[in-house]
Amino acid sequence: MGDSSGSVRRLGGGQLICRHCGLLQDQVQTLSHELVLLEPDMRVLAHEVPAGRRWIELVDGRVTVYGVCPPDPFQRCRIEHALACPGQQLPDLWPWLTSLRQENARKAERESQRLPLPPGGEPLADAG
Ligand SMILES: [Zn+2]
Repeated sequence: MGDSSGSVRRLGGGQLICRHCGLLQDQVQTLSHELVLLEPDMRVLAHEVPAGRRWIELVDGRVTVYGVCPPDPFQRCRIEHALACPGQQLPDLWPWLTSLRQENARKAERESQRLPLPPGGEPLADAG
């Protein structure tokens, strides 16, 4: 029984040249039969990588996101080439920090526009 779809030729993986930087990246199949592009020859301590971006290798060569939290201190994982690619913008690795920075930007903007309060009064308070 062959694969009749013919849409995916390199299920076993391999290396591809990144179209953004020209460096090699490993194309690896995930547990959910998708392909992910990983940084070659690099195994990083999992706790140094944001959760959800820790790819661990299975015995059959596929990879899956490491779900142990907190991570084992000695567990190593692979990372997507996109995180190391000099030709791509770094994705939002820490969404809660991005939210905090955006909120602080709004807060700083409000602070810079705040006029001094009149004595004993609140700004824009409707007397009524
Ligand atoms: Zn690249």
